[in-house]
Amino acid sequence: MKDGFLCRKCGNCCKVPGYVRVSESETDKIAEYLKMNSREFNEKYTFLTSDRRSLSLREKDNGSCIFLSDTTGECVINPVKPEQCASFPFKWNFEGWEAICQAAAD
Ligand code: SF4
Repeated sequence: MKDGFLCRKCGNCCKVPGYVRVSESETDKIAEYLKMNSREFNEKYTFLTSDRRSLSLREKDNGSCIFLSDTTGECVINPVKPEQCASFPFKWNFEGWEAICQAAAD
């Protein structure tokens, strides 16, 4: 199903609770995009994962990514989104991803 896959930007994968791991170069890039300094960005939008291997973007109370807009349903940092987001579902995915992905349902 991944062959010819075209993301419809439904945002459903951004609502699945779980880590969105970010590297230091990615947080620097996102901070710059948001016109924030990196330290301020990290304190406000990231946390250290429980395995202490990386930072992750924070989630809202409902489990959605902090950068998924409630008004447009789109990623507000799309031009600089982390590699983990850009590579889904090609380089990695999770069990049952097809069931929540509108593009996969086509
Ligand atoms: S950074 Fe953007 S693409 Fe990645 S999970 Fe958050 S809202 Fe979705």
